[in-house]
Amino acid sequence: MSDSCIFCRIVRGEIPVAIVAESDLALAFRDRDPQAPIHELVVTRRHVTSLADAENEAELGAMLLLAAQVARADGISKSGYRTVLNTGGDGGQSVAHLHAHVLGGRAMHWPPG
Ligand code: 5GP
Ligand code: ZN
Repeated sequence: MSDSCIFCRIVRGEIPVAIVAESDLALAFRDRDPQAPIHELVVTRRHVTSLADAENEAELGAMLLLAAQVARADGISKSGYRTVLNTGGDGGQSVAHLHAHVLGGRAMHWPPG
């Protein structure tokens, strides 16, 4: 846990968010600045800075499985969706707490920007 980390504060319930799903190791909520009709974040409950520092298979698995569960609940499993883990500066990571984006409800483009 990190006192000042915004996602740790969300996990502790100190910052209100629209929670969409949760498990023992991960929590999913709506992104406050959606980049698609559906844009959820799935964060690990434990503070891990990024994928580059991840070492716990159960935690990573839980995060991805919750992402898939959220996509099913949002009804985008069949149409498809984009799952993104921004890592570090060049990866465009702005919050230094491991998280996956689930984006859907519109066609995504490749390559990403
Ligand atoms: P990153 O750029 O690190 O991959 O993604 C961080 C995401 O967290 C951004 O999409 C941003 O909109 C979202 N975000 C940052 N602070 C908050 C917050 O306090 N509440 C919610 N719901 N989303 C946040
Ligand atoms: Zn954190």
